[in-house]
Amino acid sequence: MTPFTSWQDAPKADFAVIGDPVDHSLSPQMHTAAYKALDLDYKYVAIHVPVGEVAAALDHLRELDYRGVNVTVPHKGEAIAWCAHVGDFVQQVQAVNTIDVRRKSGINTDANGFLATLDGVKVGTALMLGAGGSARALARALVREGWTLRLWNRTPERATELAGLVGATAVETADPTGASLILNTTSASLTGDELPIDWNKAEKDAIAYDLAYGDSPFLLAAQGKGLTTMNGLPMLVEQGALSIEWWLGVRAPRPAMLAAIQATRPSGDKEQG
Ligand code: NDP
Repeated sequence: MTPFTSWQDAPKADFAVIGDPVDHSLSPQMHTAAYKALDLDYKYVAIHVPVGEVAAALDHLRELDYRGVNVTVPHKGEAIAWCAHVGDFVQQVQAVNTIDVRRKSGINTDANGFLATLDGVKVGTALMLGAGGSARALARALVREGWTLRLWNRTPERATELAGLVGATAVETADPTGASLILNTTSASLTGDELPIDWNKAEKDAIAYDLAYGDSPFLLAAQGKGLTTMNGLPMLVEQGALSIEWWLGVRAPRPAMLAAIQATRPSGDKEQG
C-alpha cells in the first residue's frame, strides 16, 4: 500500500501526486525508483485532495517548497485554474497532469506518453471507446497524428460532442471493422464490465489497447481472437517519464520505472497514475 496523507498534513517532500482517491496510485513507487536510478535525493508522495480543494492544496504545497505535482483523477480539470501558465493543448483538452509548482505552470503528458507507446505503429483507422477525460486528450492527439478516428461511448451524446471537437466520427455501435487500433479508454475495466464489441469483425492484425493496467475483459476477449494487445503500464511509465524530463531536464530511466511498478503492483486493476 502506498503511504498517503491529506494535504493539510503533507510531509516535507519534493514531488507528489494529488487525487481522490490516491491511495492506489503507482506514481510514488515509479518516481521514487526513477530518482534512485538517477542518484537524486528527491522524495515523492501521494496526497489525498478532495474535489474543490485543489487550489488550496497546491498553494499549501508551494509554501512547503514542493517542486512538482502530478494530477490524477478527478482533478485534471480543476487544477488548470490554479496554473498561471498552461499551453494550448491543456486548454483544448481541459486536462493538466503535470505542474511545476514554483512556476505555477502546467502541461499534459498523457497524450504524448500515449503516442510514444505507439512508436512504430502505422497510422490508420482507430476505433476509440469512451469519451471521458483521457479520451479527450488521446482523441485529439490521434487526429493530430493523422489517424482516422471513430468514437463510441456508452452515453452517445458525449461521443458526438467529442467527435465534433476533434474532427472524428461518432458511431452508434462499436464495430471494429477496418480499424487497425481498437482503443479502450473507458473505465469499464475497473469494474470488470464487458464492452459491446463484436470481436468477430476485428481485423486479424489489429492492436487492442486498454488504458487499464491489467488483463481486462476487453484484452482477454481480444487475445481470444488472436489480436495483439497492449495494456496501460507502458503509457503510465511514458507519461511519468515525460513529467520527470520536463521538471528536471534529464532523461528519465524508463526501465527502472517499469520494473518498480511491475514489482509493487498489487493484484486487481484499480490503480491509477
Ligand atoms: P473518465 O471518468 O473521465 O471517463 C470514463 C469513461 O468510461 C466514460 O466515457 C464513461 O462513459 C466510460 N465508462 C465507464 N464505465 C463504463 C462501463 N461500465 N461501460 C462502458 N463505458 C463505461 O475516466 P478517464 O478517462 O480519466 O480514465 C479512463 C480509464 O483510463 C481508467 O481506467 C483510468 O485508470 C485509465 N487511465 C490510464 C492511464 C495510463 O497512464 N495508463 C492514464 C489515464 C487514465 P459515460 O460517458 O457513458 O459515463
